[in-house]
Amino acid sequence: MNTDRLIAYFSMEIALELEMPTYCGGLGILAGDTLRAAADGQLPVAAISLLHRKGYFCQQLAADGSQTEHSCEWEIGNFLKELPARASVVISGRTVHIRAWQYDVKGAKGAVVPVYLLDTDLPENAEWDRRITDHLYGGDEWYRLCQEIVMGIGGVRMLRELGHRNLTRYHMNEGHASLLAMELLDEEALAAGRETFNHDDVESVRRKCVFTTHTAVPAGHDRFPLDMVAAALGRTEVGEMREIFCCGGSLNMTYLALNLSHYVNGVAKKHSEVSRRMFAGYKIHDITNGIHAPTWVAPSFQRLYDRYSPGWREDNFNLRHALSFPAEEVWEAHAEAKAALLDRVNHETNAGMETNVLTFGFARRIADYKRADLLLYDLERLKSIACQIGPFQVVFAGKAHPGDAVGRETIRKIFRAIEALKGHVRLAYLTNYDWELARLMTAGVDVWLNTPLPPLEASGTSGMKAAVNGVPSLSILDGWWIEGCIEGTTGWAIGSLLRLADPAQTTPLDAASLYDKIEKVVIPLYYNERDRFLDVMRHAIALNGAYFTTQRMLLQYVLSAYF
Ligand SMILES: *Cc1c(COP(=O)(O)O)cnc(C)c1O
Repeated sequence: MNTDRLIAYFSMEIALELEMPTYCGGLGILAGDTLRAAADGQLPVAAISLLHRKGYFCQQLAADGSQTEHSCEWEIGNFLKELPARASVVISGRTVHIRAWQYDVKGAKGAVVPVYLLDTDLPENAEWDRRITDHLYGGDEWYRLCQEIVMGIGGVRMLRELGHRNLTRYHMNEGHASLLAMELLDEEALAAGRETFNHDDVESVRRKCVFTTHTAVPAGHDRFPLDMVAAALGRTEVGEMREIFCCGGSLNMTYLALNLSHYVNGVAKKHSEVSRRMFAGYKIHDITNGIHAPTWVAPSFQRLYDRYSPGWREDNFNLRHALSFPAEEVWEAHAEAKAALLDRVNHETNAGMETNVLTFGFARRIADYKRADLLLYDLERLKSIACQIGPFQVVFAGKAHPGDAVGRETIRKIFRAIEALKGHVRLAYLTNYDWELARLMTAGVDVWLNTPLPPLEASGTSGMKAAVNGVPSLSILDGWWIEGCIEGTTGWAIGSLLRLADPAQTTPLDAASLYDKIEKVVIPLYYNERDRFLDVMRHAIALNGAYFTTQRMLLQYVLSAYF
């Protein structure tokens, strides 16, 4: 049984189904899209994550944009199969029992990638321990460490209990999973009849592990104080083998993964360059992220692709034929996707958006460096563009992390702009950005906007979802867009070329560049040169939709990292 899997994929979040709140944002969507591509490609993968009984959170917004959060309720039994296997870890001297629930990701040809979601809510556990697998990115540092122990160490043990004995690769999707490498070290030592591991064990574990780092934001890398780790795990060698585990007096999950992996990569070429500077001395490769095309293509475009590029689902590169699709039919498919979005917008917000007006979309986690409010930097300028050059409307969405005061204020600021621009520019903010809303928005706007502060955007994937629906990006040159942008052909670059000592000082310059491009290029093209706009749409599909997929991405992992 279960001896056929060769690759174990560990991720703190995985978006598996619309109704399962087991993800927060881009990382979880990427993990889900990766596993969907693995199932399509019949790759021998099994995945580990946590159950997240209470999910991340559902967002509610008051009339002034104040965010409140409530936990998501979902019927676990409707989606998952409980497995009889049990594993355990010891935390603070208490045994924490772990159960697994199985979800099968089904591929286009019927192959299955099993995902095991770990759950500590068992009556034999202490009350606090039963809650360890409840909240994704909730709680404090101690709670997070306990979650990572359950996922990393408990995950390896659960795979053994489930009979996966032939695993030759362990892929850590971000550093949350790094403790799996510590468990593999213990296994090596045990197999050799030793009590503690040595440098030979380190070498054999390195051969098995692959690590993908996902953020260029320093605070995004987990680290835990050594005394906290000792209290949780009751072991001291973490401090003794400093060169493997530590950095500045703490257990650094990124360094742990870097030291115990034979292949390490960033998620775009630029991000790998930035990571090489952050982690000097390590060889960091690049494999640019992608999306699972069949998951993200709107129904109207699915029909178009089925008609003109049959086989695009099996081989996404077929979408390069988009250059020869009839322009009117591309426009019709887009009009259908746009109507679906604007229906939702008008129904939910009463914004009165119109289908013949140029529509921009911006949606992502509301984190400071993403600068959701860059477009709103100068409201007078926006009014004058709308009045003198041509009308446009903007749809926003995104959740702020509950503890992020700056992000919460950014949402209120956007709500104030909605009021201030009434009668001039229609803006709307949709609540509870999730996978379903992302599908509607990335396909339904005319131009996808992204305005992060460089060099902090690791990759970004929402622009890829837009591209595969013929929606060009208007974006800062950072992350994947450096690879995807051909100016005036797949979309447009914005942003100051000046790099100041304090990068935030470029914000006014970046805003000015954004306004210039909207005024001089995007609005005139949209209203006056529809044929050329449709050329850009088709190039977005052919050059970017065909390429920035998890199918291409997994092929690169297979060739470079897995085998
Ligand atoms: C795609 C997606 C993201 C990530 O988008 P970015 O462009 O990387 O910010 C986040 N949340 C949801 C719901 C998504 O679908």
